[in-house]
Amino acid sequence: MLRKRKPMDAQRKATLKAAWKREGDEKAKTYREQALKMFPHVCQRCGREFSGARLRELTVHHKDGNHMNNPPDGSNWALLCLYCHDDEHGAYEHIGVDIEAQQQLTTTPSLGFQAFEGLRATLASAETPSESE
Ligand SMILES: [Zn+2]
Ligand SMILES: [Zn+2]
Repeated sequence: MLRKRKPMDAQRKATLKAAWKREGDEKAKTYREQALKMFPHVCQRCGREFSGARLRELTVHHKDGNHMNNPPDGSNWALLCLYCHDDEHGAYEHIGVDIEAQQQLTTTPSLGFQAFEGLRATLASAETPSESE
């Protein structure tokens, strides 16, 4: 089964590489090694086999998209090659952490500010009804 895929542009590739490199902490290494021990070294999507130096092209995909969810039975893992992994969900799982963090930075303060303003208004009217600022 051949699928035509667009070549990754250089910038996207660099972003991916950086994201995957950053992900290479001890914990990530551990679950990757576990997954590599547990599953055959075959991309579960395209069926290509990886061995030797090419093994690093095989990555651990988290089925639920949550990198923190690493059950020891491997039920949340799927081995995918870099290309299929990219294809699987547009690489957003890996840079998704940053996107989420940025969203939190932009949305949480404004929500918190509004909540605080609301609370202050409530407190102001409940406790000091006559006081105005
Ligand atoms: Zn593949
Ligand atoms: Zn993934």
